[in-house]
Amino acid sequence: MQDTTRLVRAGLPEPPAKLQPGSPVHAGPVFASAFAAPGEPSDSPYTYTRFTNPTWQELEHALGALEGGVARIFPSGMAAVMAVFATVLRPGDTVVLPSDCYYTTRILTREFFADFGVETRLAPTANNAQAEVLEGAKLLWLETPANPGMDICDIRLLADEAHRQGALVAVDNTTPTAFGQQPLALGADISVASDTKSLTGHSDLLLGHVAVRDLELNAKIDRWRRLSGSIVGPMEAWLALRSLATLPLRLERQSQNAQAIAEFLESRPQVVAVHHPGLPKHPAHALARQQMRFFGPIVSFELANRNMAERFLEASHLLVEASSFGGIVSSAERRARWKSDDVSEGFIRLSAGCEAIEDLLADLDQALRVSTTA
Ligand code: PLP
Repeated sequence: MQDTTRLVRAGLPEPPAKLQPGSPVHAGPVFASAFAAPGEPSDSPYTYTRFTNPTWQELEHALGALEGGVARIFPSGMAAVMAVFATVLRPGDTVVLPSDCYYTTRILTREFFADFGVETRLAPTANNAQAEVLEGAKLLWLETPANPGMDICDIRLLADEAHRQGALVAVDNTTPTAFGQQPLALGADISVASDTKSLTGHSDLLLGHVAVRDLELNAKIDRWRRLSGSIVGPMEAWLALRSLATLPLRLERQSQNAQAIAEFLESRPQVVAVHHPGLPKHPAHALARQQMRFFGPIVSFELANRNMAERFLEASHLLVEASSFGGIVSSAERRARWKSDDVSEGFIRLSAGCEAIEDLLADLDQALRVSTTA
C-alpha cells in the first residue's frame, strides 16, 4: 500500500480483518489507566497505561509504518528529543548539533547535559559542515530543513560519514514530517519529530515521537518512557491518529501554498531575502528535490527591519501571529523577538496553511504595501 492509503486508514483494522456489524468505523480512545490483568503480567496485552495503551499502539503502528521502523510516542517534541539524549548520551560523550537547529534542543544539551559531562559541539547545517567536527562524537544530530533558517544538509552523506566514525545519527524531522522525508531510509539511525507541528496540524495538541529500526534501541527508548513517565494521554494519541488521516492532503496543499508564497515574495521589492527549499535559487534546492517528497509549509523571509516586519504582521488579515508552524491556518511571527536564533530583526517565519492561495497572496500583497508606509 502507498503511504497515503496507510495514513488515511490509520487506526482501522487491516485486511483481511473486517469490522463486525455495528462496530464503530473509527474506535474511540481507550481511557483506562489500569487493565484487568490476572496472574502473570506477561499474560495480559495491557496492564497499566504508563507501560502501553491500545490507542498509543495504533498511533505508533501508523507512525512506524510511515517511518519504516518502530515508533514510540512522547508528550511533546522536546520529550522525544530528551528520550533520545537520555538513552544515548553518557558522561564523557560528545553530541554534534547544528548551530542553527531548534534553539531549545541546543539549550537542553548545553545547559542540562553539560552538567552530566556531555560535550556539545556545534556546526551549521549548510554545506554539511557538521561532517568536519565529528571526531570522537557519540551522536550526530541533524535537523533538515533547519528551523527557522531553512538550510538543508545531505542526510545520506552525513550518516555514512558519521557511521564510518562510529557515531549514531538522529534527524529532527519536524519540519518535513515523515510523510515528507524519511530519515531512516536515508541511513539515519533515529528519526525524531515534534508532531505538534504539521504531523497533527491543527494547533491543538503537543506530541512527539521517536522512530528507529534497531529493536534494541527501541527497547531502550521504551524503557526510558516507562521509567520517566514521559507519556501521552490517550485523548491526545487519538486526536493525533485522527489528524494523521488528513496529513497527505494537508501537507500537499500547504506545500503548494508555500511554494506560491515563496515565489510571490521573491518577486516583491519590499522583500530582502526568501528562504524556502522549493526555490531554484535556494543553495540546496537540488538536494531538497532528491531528499524530500514535499518542500513543506515554511517560508522564511526578511524585510528590511523590525518596524517593517511588525507593520506587515499587524496589517495581515489572514496570518495568525503565533509561534508554531504546520497548522491548517496560516501563521507567521517575527522570529528575532525570541532572541534565540541568529536571524535579522526583520526575519519572519511564515507557515502556509490550507487557505485558498488567491486569498493568501492578496493578503500578503496588501500587508507588504502597508509595511512600507510610514
Ligand atoms: N524540533 C523542532 C524542529 C521544533 O520546531 C520544535 C518546536 O518548535 C521542537 C523540536 C519541540 O517540539 P515541542 O514544542 O512539541 O516540544
